[in-house]
Amino acid sequence: MNRVLNFAPGPSPLPLEVLLEVQKELPDWNGTGISVLEMSHRSKDFMGIYYETVKNLRELYGISDEYEVLFVQGGGHMEFAMVPLNFNFYGTGNYLVNGVWSQKAFKEAVKLGSAAEAARVVNRVPRQDEIAMSEEAGYLYYCSNETVNGIQYHYVPQSEAILVSDMSSDFLSKPVDISKYGLIYAGAQKNFGPAGLTVVIVKKDLLGNCSPTTPSMLDYLTYANSESMYNTPPTFAIYVSCLVSRWLLDQGGVQEMQRRSVVKSSMLYDVIDGSAGFYTNKVEKDSRSLMNVVFNLADESLNDEFLAKARERNIVNIKGHRIVGGMRASLYNAVTIEATEKLAEFMKDFKASH
Ligand code: PMP
Repeated sequence: MNRVLNFAPGPSPLPLEVLLEVQKELPDWNGTGISVLEMSHRSKDFMGIYYETVKNLRELYGISDEYEVLFVQGGGHMEFAMVPLNFNFYGTGNYLVNGVWSQKAFKEAVKLGSAAEAARVVNRVPRQDEIAMSEEAGYLYYCSNETVNGIQYHYVPQSEAILVSDMSSDFLSKPVDISKYGLIYAGAQKNFGPAGLTVVIVKKDLLGNCSPTTPSMLDYLTYANSESMYNTPPTFAIYVSCLVSRWLLDQGGVQEMQRRSVVKSSMLYDVIDGSAGFYTNKVEKDSRSLMNVVFNLADESLNDEFLAKARERNIVNIKGHRIVGGMRASLYNAVTIEATEKLAEFMKDFKASH
């Protein structure tokens, strides 16, 4: 087996232990003689997997019974639409725009009703005192970690409105006080599992206020009323995420993930900051992401050589997003401290040889 050091932004690495478990039980799950891939979503066996996944998520984040944990498909992009469709009832969506994904969500909300920019900044998160809510604000929306831009909130924005957050790329990477939120959502494919599953954690008493023309599949209440089984859910993605949730609990939960994230990201930021300008990072220091470390080589003509030399050391998927260029190392939960050390070492050696 030749596993490389994968810093992909999503889909991204899964814990090796989980992959091996999947491999082991793929043809015959738990003595049933069938694979999870072949199982009815309404079977007792699959329902057991579903219940355990929800239970583990509740345990990992300390989610109270006031909240639903829903499994949706359609990724972050469908959430950009579902949030306004479900929450327009409460008033204007106020968006904090500070990167690619909050911008996309804002544009979709404008299309679907009334939405306003409560702040717009680049290369950092807005400060609390820069948040200017519109009149009749219904909800305040922010993206807790801008995956493409490498920008992360290290505080929770506050307002009188319902708080909504896209946590796709820092899901389960640190403790979150869920009780502050009306809704959070996350595509699984970065920190939690395979693509195809989106987790939505929503306060129960906020549901049920869609306009009557809203398609059933875009109404969170449909999912809440059917244990997320109104239609066939992404069973395999739920199963793999279940194994990841077990792994997370075994490893010490979100506290431990946060500790590792600090260690991993500091290693790379230290190399960047100590490189005398060889590597640069535009993001203001207190908004830097612990999940996606973006950087540029001051001499961009070295980019191809940098990527090729990295590949020689088994380091892959560190090219930046096509919109912003440069480099990006994503350090999600399954990326080990040892792998990150090797990347940091490579960056130092590359600089030394130029
Ligand atoms: N939000 C964030 C923070 C993301 O990183 C992404 C995808 N990289 C999305 C939303 C969109 O997710 P999807 O491709 O699953 O629709």
